[in-house]
Amino acid sequence: MEKLDLVYEGKAKKLFSCEDGDLLIAEFKDDLTAGNAAKKGFQEGKGALNCKISNQILKLLEEYGINTHLVKILDDTHQLIKKVNIIPIEVVVRNVATGSLTKRLGISDGKVLPFALVEFYYKNDDLNDPLLNDEHCIMLDLVKSESDLEELKRLAREINSILKRFFASKNLTLVDFKVEFGTDKDGNILLADEISPDSCRFWDSKTNEKLDKDVFRQDLGSVKVAYEEVLNRILKG
Ligand code: UDP
Repeated sequence: MEKLDLVYEGKAKKLFSCEDGDLLIAEFKDDLTAGNAAKKGFQEGKGALNCKISNQILKLLEEYGINTHLVKILDDTHQLIKKVNIIPIEVVVRNVATGSLTKRLGISDGKVLPFALVEFYYKNDDLNDPLLNDEHCIMLDLVKSESDLEELKRLAREINSILKRFFASKNLTLVDFKVEFGTDKDGNILLADEISPDSCRFWDSKTNEKLDKDVFRQDLGSVKVAYEEVLNRILKG
């Protein structure tokens, strides 16, 4: 399947049309951004690492019955995906407090949360992705009904329990992550976008070393080395 027209370019991916009108080709870029693109960087090979990591995770989730947009892996940086209407809600799940949660609520960094916390953020760069409650989501027409919100929460928790267990077996703590969902032409909700060290926080289970985009956000070392470590652990049996 060949790339035709560029239909969307985001911070970390480009989407191209292809000969099948129900599908798109996603290309993972080497660009890095943080803080709503306030900080910008570039790491050669980052796109391929994220594409490979995301492919492994989406395939794992499919095995557990989670429907995703992934159709086929094309090469190191390209995926064939189902075209969906992205629901403009960033669904964040947290197992350990860090990042914006600690700043907003004064919870100490590294505190293990008593249950998986699901949060919604408005996917809107102009507004800096503000936190939303359920009523905001309905009022802004971001979903059709309250039952769609419940479905997003259910899927987010299920994805978390699958991934938390999987990463624990690789000596990685899944601290938190962000997922996005979309609806296909039949109205089904599919897991879309990527799940990678750009969108998750992974800490080494023993040392708490950060192996995710915080390496870039906080200038902690080589992004490539950290992301390669995540991929190697995923691929190790
Ligand atoms: N996240 C993301 N995209 C965003 C915001 C957050 O992928 O636009 C991820 C982030 O990598 C982390 C989780 O969501 O795994 C929670 O992020 P947080 O709210 O703590 O935001 P931050 O500290 O990055 O501002």
